[in-house]
Amino acid sequence: MANIFERNRAELEDLCKRRFFFRQGSEIYGGVSGFYTYGPPGCALKTNIINLWRRHFIIEERLMEIEDTNIMPHPVLKASGHVDRFSDFLVRDVSDDKKFYRADKLLEDVMEDKLKEKGLAAEKVKEYTLVRNQADAYSQEEISEIFRKYDIRAPESGNKLTEPEPFNLMFPTPIGPSGLIPGYLRPETAQGIFLNYKFCLEQNQNRLPFGVAQVGKSFRNEIAPRQGLTRQREFTQAEIEWFVKPTAKQLKKFEAVSSEQMMLFSSDLQLAGKSAETITIGEAVKSGMVNNETLGYFMARTGLFLTSIGVKPEHLRFRQHLPTEMAHYACDCWDAEIETCYGWLECVGIADRSCFDLNAHAKAAKVDLAFREKLDQPIEMEVLRLKKDAGVAMMKAFKKSGRVVKEWVEKLPQEELKALIDEATKDGKAVRTVEVADDQTEECTFLPEHLVCETKKVCSKAGCLFDLQEKQSTVQFTPGVVEPSFGIDRILFSVLEHSFYVRPKDESDEEKQQKNVLRFSPNIAPYKMTILPQDQRVQRTDKYAELMQLMQSGAALCGHTCTVDDSSATLGKRYARNDEVGIPFACTVDFTSLEDSTVTLRERDSTEQIRLPAAEVAALLDQLCLRRTTWKDAQARYPARSAGYP
Ligand code: AMP
Repeated sequence: MANIFERNRAELEDLCKRRFFFRQGSEIYGGVSGFYTYGPPGCALKTNIINLWRRHFIIEERLMEIEDTNIMPHPVLKASGHVDRFSDFLVRDVSDDKKFYRADKLLEDVMEDKLKEKGLAAEKVKEYTLVRNQADAYSQEEISEIFRKYDIRAPESGNKLTEPEPFNLMFPTPIGPSGLIPGYLRPETAQGIFLNYKFCLEQNQNRLPFGVAQVGKSFRNEIAPRQGLTRQREFTQAEIEWFVKPTAKQLKKFEAVSSEQMMLFSSDLQLAGKSAETITIGEAVKSGMVNNETLGYFMARTGLFLTSIGVKPEHLRFRQHLPTEMAHYACDCWDAEIETCYGWLECVGIADRSCFDLNAHAKAAKVDLAFREKLDQPIEMEVLRLKKDAGVAMMKAFKKSGRVVKEWVEKLPQEELKALIDEATKDGKAVRTVEVADDQTEECTFLPEHLVCETKKVCSKAGCLFDLQEKQSTVQFTPGVVEPSFGIDRILFSVLEHSFYVRPKDESDEEKQQKNVLRFSPNIAPYKMTILPQDQRVQRTDKYAELMQLMQSGAALCGHTCTVDDSSATLGKRYARNDEVGIPFACTVDFTSLEDSTVTLRERDSTEQIRLPAAEVAALLDQLCLRRTTWKDAQARYPARSAGYP
C-alpha cells in the first residue's frame, strides 16, 4: 500500500511548483534533468536548514569550517579513488543505445515488483529483499550474473539489455586556456577537508581529536536522475570529518546522548529479513552493534538535528551498511534514512573511514600527514628488526627494486614479518607480491639471508613502535576519520513531505476551506510572519504605516523575515494562502489597532489567535522562532482575540 507521502505526492508537487519552492533549472529553455532552481520560499527554507546545521554542528561541536574549490585537479581525485572507482553500472537497450538505465536502480525496481507478487514463499521474499538491499554493492561480474539470472529487460520495450558497463559520475573539465590541466567538478565536499587537514591541525594547536566541516555544491553526472530534488546532478552537501586517534574513539560527551532512542536497522537484522528495532544508542555501542562511541555520538546528534527541523521520528531510521556494501577500509557505516514518497531514502551517510583518505593523499602528494603524539609513559616490548647485512643482501638481490622491497619488509607488521621468516627458513624461500611502483607489482622471492633479524627493545604507544636507544619522545600515526555526510536537498525534500498535510474542510468557517498546509517548525519556516491589513481603509491610514514600520523593522532587527499580504482577498483566504507556504504566524492590523495599537497574532497550526500590543510583536516572534517560548505560553501571557475583534 502506498505510504502517506506517496498519496500526497501530486498535491505537494503542484504546491512546490505553483508557490515556486523549486522548479526545473533553465526551465524556460526546456531544462535538463537533474538540475533545479530554488525559488524564494525554497531558497529561504534551504538557508534556514543550513544555518541550523551550522549551529547544531559547527558551533555546538566546535568544528572548524572551510570553503574549498568546486573544481579540483586530476591528481586529487585520482588519489581519492574517484577517477578509478566513482562509477555506477549502466545498461542499454540492445535496439536503442540512447535508452540507458542505471543497473542497480533497475534491479531494485524489478525486485520491488517481484516482492509485490501475491502468495510469495517466505524464502523468495528473503531472496528478493536481499538482492534489492545489496543492489548497489554488486561487482560488475555479480550484477551481470544477476541480470542474466532474472532475465532483466528494458522496462519500456521489453528488449534485452547490454552487459553492465561502469560509467564514471564525475564531470571532467579542462582547466586554463590551453585546456592542458585536467580537472573535475568535485563529486563530494569531503576531499577538500582532507587536503587541508594539515593546516587545520595547526590551527587546533596540533591536538586531536578535532573536526572540520564544509558546506557546498557537489556535482555528479547521474545516469538517470528522475527523482526530483533527491537525485540531482548538482546538489548541496554538508560534510564533517572528525579526525581522531585510531585507538581512542571513546568520547566523554557520548554520555550526554547515550539514552537517545533510535530506530536501528543493523546488517544482522537486514540479512535475517527482520525489521528495524528501537534501542538506545548507549545499548547499541555497548553491544558492539555500533562500532565505537564517536560514531554513535554523531549518529545520535544527526538524529537530534533531523527531528529538530521537522523530520518525523517514526519515519527516520539508521541503516547499517551490509558487509558487501562497505568499503574495505571502513570499519562501520550507517545511513540515516528518511521515509518519503520514494521509500526509505539515504539522507545522511555516517562512516568510520579509518585512515584511508589521509594515507592516500599523503602517498600521492608525497607529504607527511602523520600525527605526532608526545609520549608520557612508553611501554617497553621486544620486536624483530632487520639486520643491516640482510638489508644489503636484499638490495643486491632485487636490483633496481631493492630499496622499495627492503622498505616494504621493514614496514611489515610483526606478525607478517614472523610468518615470512618462518616460511623462508622452513622452505628455503618465500614468495610475496610487492608494489614496487604506482600500479606495478613484482613477485619477490625472499631467501633466509634476506631476512636475518635481531631482537630489539622498543617502546610502544598507539600501536606504533620506536627504538629505545633513539630516545624518541613522540609516536606517529595517521588519524582515523568519522565522516557524517549530509545531503541538504534530500533533507529539505523530506522536511517538505513531513510538514505537508491537508487540513480537513470546515464549511462553516471560511478560513478552514483551504486544504494545503506546510507545518514547518518556526525555526526553519521560510518566512516567520505575514502581516495583513484588515482591508484597504486600514491600509490607507498613517497609523497603519507607523504600526507596520514598528513590527517590520523589529522583526528584521531580530533577523526574521516577514511578508505583507495586502491583497483584496478575504482574511480567511489570505490566511490560507500563507499557511500553504508554511508561515507560522499571521499578524492582522484592524480598525481597533488604529485606536489602541494592538494587533491580532494567529498561529498557523491551531488557527488560534491572541491580542497583543504591536510594539511587543517582534520580541514575541523572536522568542517563538528561537523556541525560547511556546505558543501555549504566549496564550497564557496575552488574551485571546475577543469576540469584538474581526
Ligand atoms: P555519498 O557521498 O554518496 O554517501 O552522499 C552523501 C549524501 O549526499 C547522501 O546521503 C545524500 O543525501 C546526498 N546525495 C548523494 N547523491 C545525491 C544526488 N545525486 N542528489 C542529491 N543528493 C545526493
